[in-house]
Amino acid sequence: MNQMKMLADFDKEGFKKEVITNVKTLFRKPIEEATPQQVFQAVSYAVKDDIIDRWIATHKEYEKKNVKTVYYLSMEFLMGRALGNNLINLTYYDAVKEALDELGFDLNFIEDQEPDAALGNGGLGRLAACFLDSLATLGYPAYGCGIRYKYGMFKQGIKDGYQVEMPDDWLKDGNPFEVKRSEYAVEVKFGGYVRVENKNGRNYFIQDGYQSVRAVPYDLPVIGYGNNVVNTLRIWDAEAIQEFCLDSFDKGEYEKAVEQQNLAKTIVEVLYPNDNHYAGKELRLRQQYFFISASVQRAILKFKELNKDIHKLPEKVTFQMNDTHPTVAVAELMRILMDEEGLEWDDAWDITTRTCAYTNHTIMAEALEKWPIELFSRLLPRIYQIVEEINRRFVLKIQEMYPGNQDKVKNMAVLYDGQVKMAHLAIAGSYSVNGVAALHTKILEERELKDFYEMRPEQFNNKTNGITQRRFLLHANPLLANWITDKIGDEWITNLSHLKKLKVYVNDEKCQHEFMNIKYQNKIRLAKYIKEHNNVDVDPRSIFDVQVKRLHEYKRQLLNILHVMHLYNRLKTEPEFDMYPRTFIFGAKASAGYKRAKLIIKLINSVADVVNNDASIEGKIKVVFIENYRVSNAEIIFAAADVSEQISTASREASGTGNMKFMLNGAPTLGTMDGANVEIVEEVGIENAFIFGLSAEEVMKYEREGGYNPMDIYNNNQAVRRVLTQLIDGTYAPDDPDRFRDLYDSLTKEDVYFILKDFDSYAEAQQKVDKAYQDEKGWAKMAMLNTACAGKFSSDRTIEEYAKEIWKLKKVKVSLDK
Ligand SMILES: *Cc1c(COP(=O)(O)O)cnc(C)c1O
Repeated sequence: MNQMKMLADFDKEGFKKEVITNVKTLFRKPIEEATPQQVFQAVSYAVKDDIIDRWIATHKEYEKKNVKTVYYLSMEFLMGRALGNNLINLTYYDAVKEALDELGFDLNFIEDQEPDAALGNGGLGRLAACFLDSLATLGYPAYGCGIRYKYGMFKQGIKDGYQVEMPDDWLKDGNPFEVKRSEYAVEVKFGGYVRVENKNGRNYFIQDGYQSVRAVPYDLPVIGYGNNVVNTLRIWDAEAIQEFCLDSFDKGEYEKAVEQQNLAKTIVEVLYPNDNHYAGKELRLRQQYFFISASVQRAILKFKELNKDIHKLPEKVTFQMNDTHPTVAVAELMRILMDEEGLEWDDAWDITTRTCAYTNHTIMAEALEKWPIELFSRLLPRIYQIVEEINRRFVLKIQEMYPGNQDKVKNMAVLYDGQVKMAHLAIAGSYSVNGVAALHTKILEERELKDFYEMRPEQFNNKTNGITQRRFLLHANPLLANWITDKIGDEWITNLSHLKKLKVYVNDEKCQHEFMNIKYQNKIRLAKYIKEHNNVDVDPRSIFDVQVKRLHEYKRQLLNILHVMHLYNRLKTEPEFDMYPRTFIFGAKASAGYKRAKLIIKLINSVADVVNNDASIEGKIKVVFIENYRVSNAEIIFAAADVSEQISTASREASGTGNMKFMLNGAPTLGTMDGANVEIVEEVGIENAFIFGLSAEEVMKYEREGGYNPMDIYNNNQAVRRVLTQLIDGTYAPDDPDRFRDLYDSLTKEDVYFILKDFDSYAEAQQKVDKAYQDEKGWAKMAMLNTACAGKFSSDRTIEEYAKEIWKLKKVKVSLDK
């Protein structure tokens, strides 16, 4: 047991007593009568007691040392569940499990009572969560800053094969780990107009006639692994400034109070469920300014408590902007420095551009945030003035460097064509611009952001994404975690590169058996989950072939399911064709307004209906769509996967992080040379992955030439023509043969994601998987090598790079004197 060494300071009997007392004081019940949810609450409050002293000690140490702090600004934090992870990082997991056993409860079952904190869409939000875990574990001073959405990512149900969205009321039973910090509330202003006042020969800009809300922070503890460090995720709630006081208001004031009440309610009401897609909604811009203004105001106030000279800000604070969503931070910091601290422009700009840094997450055109100037200036009049001045000076700089070159201005200006271009504002206002995988950064430098790169190459850098092994191995896969610790000790928990020591075991038959038996146990666990949640029987001896991620055309779930249709055709029509039994597992939420993505979900479920119920194929293919894919069930899924489907159109997936979670858990990648897949292959060797399809270079070359003609493939490829025809002949929609025509049209007219182009190459790679899996020893070796070579993909490695190269942070040690 890798946690035993820490158990000395855990008081088991005291803990049990506290759980019993908590049930009594919270719910007025003896523990025997408590519901599982109530036991979860009582346990969590008991754990929180263990957290609080460390939390206080950590912040005392930060203040004493007056350390530099990174503020990770993000619209999304996809945290998942807290209880299990907190216990893991406190190194109390096994001890609490034992204590609860003695009280007659199963910790796993108690953990299942906790709703996911699903304050994010997918990879970008989960990255933020992994970064917080690594920052705390490495002892770096950090705040996560975000929004306390009342409703997080919607709950997905499947009715008749279609996705239905249900509200995620994640706070309905309260959140035992959060602490409301009313004393740190600040005001955030919207709308109105800007008035100029001259005082002592200087112009002051004052926003008037505005509506405002009170931003109130809730703090969540982020626990470092076994080091007593507890950082903070600060998420902001909105409250009305004026409370109702009916008899003291005249009609006008009453209406204003109601308006402010409503404004506050709507701002934090719901997370926009768009992944890699920009919708341009006014409320979204409100959300952005709301949490940025609150976070930046608070950070400056805190800085001023310990520091006298505002010019020292860059030595003590970095604002890391997670994509363009927090980019108004650049202008908000300028506003505070000039309007509140009284600095002149040049001084303020120098400080701002040494404090802000920007991470780019995508090259997808539809994800680029561009706000209409009309909307932006109406909602944020003072911020807009500042953006105008930033733009004016930036354009002058461009013209100075490239005299007479209007293209450069057009490509780089912050304001152009009546729009505020947030990526350009982020780059203009930052000292660092980073991509999230080597290939992605290269594409940014050579294509998407070429002009910016040429102007200031030293600003650009790469930080390949990572994931936390504490959640995605130690917590998610205890059997494998214990096996690894038995073999090589437990240093991998805080230094994942140690996994390479496993390489000496990959040819050892006993170890191979142990490793594959653990995979098999995890497949049984997932099969049970699937039976309970989908009522489908799957055979844990079949190959578990998994594609779980947001539903998006560029991620090409459609390629996967078309290939399943193709395999089914072969089983039905080629007597000599055989294949190893395969379970194709999908999990994906589609953005509520993304019609084509939702139709792909319906297609997957329609294929499942036909294939799963055709006895003639003797169970060779099963298709399962796991409802409501999220962090908590992801943990079970990764541990049970044999094959990791990472099949995006090359150049489109900036990094991917799901690919890393699969690799860590011993699933080889079936994928394109896209995002971090490239680096996965570099680490594990191309012979231990199944790589197919066009390269990013090839895709981009076709795009420069205006695409390719999918009809060439339709006309010459019988297998492809057959599955395409089945989309419109009612094979999978007997009641409405036109149901999937939109998919047929998208593939035959343009196929912008090169699905038909990559089809043969994908089918061939899938055949190699089939063959490779039947070589038991060969497969075991490949799976083990994937785990053994996953060290690079720890978010600890990523965060060390950010901390050293961008943030210049120093580690802090925290001790608990009792
Ligand atoms: C890791 C993760 C993602 C990101 O997956 P990709 O395959 O990289 O797109 C999305 N959602 C959840 C719940 C995750 O855990």
